[in-house]
Parts: sequence; structure tokens; C-alpha cells
Amino acid sequence: MIGAGSEDSDGERDCRRVFAFHEAGHAVIGHLLGRTLRAVSVTQHCEFEPLGKKWSNADLGNSIKIALAGPHAEVLASHEEVSVGAGGDIARAKEEAEELAGDSWKERLHELSAASQALVMEHWAEIERVANRLVKLAGVVSEKDLPALLK
Ligand SMILES: [Zn+2]
Repeated sequence: MIGAGSEDSDGERDCRRVFAFHEAGHAVIGHLLGRTLRAVSVTQHCEFEPLGKKWSNADLGNSIKIALAGPHAEVLASHEEVSVGAGGDIARAKEEAEELAGDSWKERLHELSAASQALVMEHWAEIERVANRLVKLAGVVSEKDLPALLK
């Protein structure tokens, strides 16, 4: 259980906490894969600066890992089977996997999902720090805030 001391209802707070982990998953894994974080908060979806070049296959693969890091972090934080906030992320990952691998997109998506999950687990402490910061301050975290949170 989460400690007492908030005026929010447990349900509302738990929901915000899980959403914070989802967004922190995108933010931390995106940062690790070389993207620049524009902004992330509990009320807005994680946004990165555009790459500013034509995407290579490696960029596409990374984008899929970043998209799936949100759902993976959410599932790990909530202990639920399915990520509730993941519809858009999964649709995007599927689209990019088709672009990357054509007919064998399913296998490729499966591999990239496993790689994304491994990254999320490996960097769970950092994701947790960013998520806690998002919940506690209800603020916006951007690239300049990450070094202090990721050390
Ligand atoms: Zn997401």
C-alpha cells in the first residue's frame, strides 16, 4: 500500500501513480535511446524533440521500444495483466513494425517488445524516480531535469 497523507481518494491516486510510471517508462527509455525529452507530466503524454532527419531502421526500432516502454512500465507498476493506457502506443508500434519488417512484422514486434521490457526492468530504479517526481510535484519533467533523476 501507498502511505497515508494525501487528500486524494486511493483510487484516484493509484490511477495517477500508474499513469506516471507509464509516462516515465517512455521518458527514461527514450532518453537512454538517444531522444531528447521535450516534456512529460501526469496530465500530458510524453513528448520528444523531433529527430530532424529521415528515420533509419534503427530509429524505427528504437521508436517501437520507446512506445512499448510505457505499457511495460505500467504493467510492472500496477501488477495488472494489461496496460489500460496502451491502445495508442501499441497501435503505433504495430504500424512502425510493419514499416520496418513488412510481412514479418509480428516476429519483429515481439522481439522489440521483449527488448523494451528488458530495458524497463534494467532501468526500473530510474523510471521509479521519474514517476515519483511526476506524482509528487505534479510537475513537468524535461531533458534538463533528467541527469539528476537518472544518476
Ligand atoms: Zn504511452
